[in-house]
Amino acid sequence: MASEGVEMKEKTASETVEDEEIVIDVDEPEPTIEDLPGVGPATAEKLREAGFEDLLAIAVMSPPELAEQAELGEAVSSKIISGAKKLANIGGFVSGNALLDRRSRVEKLTSGTSSLDELLGGGFETQAIVEVFGEFGSGKTQIGHQLAVNTILPKESGGFDGEVFYIDTEDTFRPERIAQMAESVGIKPEDALNRIHVARAYNSAHQMLLVDEIKRMSKNIDVKLVIVDSLTSHFRAEYIGRGMLATRQQKLNRHMKELKQIADVQNALVLVTNQVMSKPDAMWGDPTKAIGGHIVGHASTFRLYLRKSKGGRRIARLIDSPNLPEGEAVFTVTSEGLRD
Ligand code: ADP
Ligand code: MG
Repeated sequence: MASEGVEMKEKTASETVEDEEIVIDVDEPEPTIEDLPGVGPATAEKLREAGFEDLLAIAVMSPPELAEQAELGEAVSSKIISGAKKLANIGGFVSGNALLDRRSRVEKLTSGTSSLDELLGGGFETQAIVEVFGEFGSGKTQIGHQLAVNTILPKESGGFDGEVFYIDTEDTFRPERIAQMAESVGIKPEDALNRIHVARAYNSAHQMLLVDEIKRMSKNIDVKLVIVDSLTSHFRAEYIGRGMLATRQQKLNRHMKELKQIADVQNALVLVTNQVMSKPDAMWGDPTKAIGGHIVGHASTFRLYLRKSKGGRRIARLIDSPNLPEGEAVFTVTSEGLRD
């Protein structure tokens, strides 16, 4: 992943939270199962093989259950579980005021069209995952490119003045298109391309690793937009057949959770695209329903359904928003980018 020319964010003094002997340094990478008491390489491997990659997944087990599933002794399991309870980010309760305070930091990114911005209550929000789904050619990648460019704009122009990470799974990222759109909003193409960091994901495992990489890099870089275009194409190609469905959904769920964490921690926007089939499909069902079904739908804060209309127009429909009415916006894709 290219990192030259990246603007460095001021490093804040690391805060430490002490809980008995376990010290959590917020600037350190997240704890892993290797950090659990009594877990050496062999036990870590057993845990992973049994599907316990996530500390939270261990924290909610009972010792006999974990012992059986990971083929460990019960005493060891018990020790591992209590360690996981301390290390896992269980979330917990916060006051309504704390939530209001976090919400007050939400920023909105312009799409460059007033119709789409209005549909979204003023623009694309940080601390949110926006899922854009639609058929091939409906304009999902164009929205991704436009938001990437707009993220670089100063805040007074509706931008975030921040950096963009673009995970490209279908090899459809086009720097020339970025240059075109940048010029039309008055940004030098090379300045725009400097702040858009692109990685091609070769398979779903690589795609998920790239999110870890973004998390790591976000300690020094002001990440304001993460794009996964497309979220589901690799998963769809790799997990074929009913028997693979549960595993695929589990992986997608984890992927979405990690993306949401970046959105919350960085006060960033996450945009994921999802293709719907033009024909009904035995495995994927209803063509107008997005792939990944409930998992992706639930994990997304906003869902936009895109479709093509007459005269090159596109219609975006807002679905399942937590605080906005359902509605539609009409826009076009021009050589300069998205326009009303
Ligand atoms: P999706 O990602 O949903 O499959 P895209 O975002 O790639 O679809 O949309 C492709 C469409 O965007 C093209 O069919 C065309 O209508 C429009 N488009 C792409 N580039 C340009 C351009 N330079 N000028 C005008 N329209 C463009
Ligand atoms: Mg596309």
